[in-house]
Amino acid sequence: MHYDTVISWKATLSEKRLKRGDSWQKNYTFAHFITMRTFRRLQLTAALIPGLLFTSFFATGQKLIKPPNVQESWSQAYEPFRIAGNLYYVGTYDLACYLITTPQGHILINTGLAESVSMIQSNVKALGFNFSDIKILLATHAHYDHVGGMAEIKKITGAAMMIHEKDAPVLADGGNSDYAMGGQGSTFEPVRADRLLHDEDTVRLGGMQIIVLHHPGHTKGACSFLFDVKDDSRSYRVLIANMPTILDPTKLSGMPTYPDVGKDYANTFAAMKKLQFDIWLSSHASQFGLHQKRKPGDAYHPEAFIDRKGYDAMIEDLQKAYLKRLEDK
Ligand SMILES: [Zn+2]
Ligand SMILES: [Zn+2]
Repeated sequence: MHYDTVISWKATLSEKRLKRGDSWQKNYTFAHFITMRTFRRLQLTAALIPGLLFTSFFATGQKLIKPPNVQESWSQAYEPFRIAGNLYYVGTYDLACYLITTPQGHILINTGLAESVSMIQSNVKALGFNFSDIKILLATHAHYDHVGGMAEIKKITGAAMMIHEKDAPVLADGGNSDYAMGGQGSTFEPVRADRLLHDEDTVRLGGMQIIVLHHPGHTKGACSFLFDVKDDSRSYRVLIANMPTILDPTKLSGMPTYPDVGKDYANTFAAMKKLQFDIWLSSHASQFGLHQKRKPGDAYHPEAFIDRKGYDAMIEDLQKAYLKRLEDK
């Protein structure tokens, strides 16, 4: 069996899983699906396939459950573009992924869903960069819509995964220990972090210095990133903000595995209001208004993303929602 056949077979399986809308592990075990003869044939084929791919196939297929909410815009294509200086948008229509290029290799922030990996790869290539030059992987927080492709990208590139220490356990168990959405199984392929980050740590590569800002609440280890980029005419301070939205299951009075969630949100609002920056970006394109600020085909225009007012207004709205939820409890 050829590698492609294995991949399309895998696709058919996950399509069926999606149609059924239930968990693979519960109702669709590997043993039910194929006969032992096919299994032996596959085992033989495995010897011909690079080991990592086959391992990932089993690990993914058997362990993952369907994420609770998936939106169409999350895997819709969007043209990659240069945001400012050496910072590029390589994500999907709504799931923002950022590429920071340097002479010593690149940094990728967030991945979108697992199925978007090939899209991100071709976006990076379309901009003229090598995917294999990615050396560092970062994430604004460990939810399946932002780290779903991390395991595969880490395997392809061999890059070092760095995440806040408080999101590392959730990343390592595929989201199962997430305080709000966990407990049902893994929603994405687990990844073990190579470096644990803390508030105000700096991530360095090829002259870039990225300051890590711990903004907990949405997850225990949610982070924003602050750094400077420059082009021929000026430099820009960029904030990739993890906006403090509140998930439906979250009780601000305290969650069983996150008693301080309400307090953390309050501190995050206060900290985010004080930040100074020129360009504002975030984990979802819809949060910073990418599609209002830029149309496909637009020329390089970093100023389109200078929007302190929009940022302040959104923080204000989210804080109002927070205060309302505090009353509701
Ligand atoms: Zn999230
Ligand atoms: Zn999200």
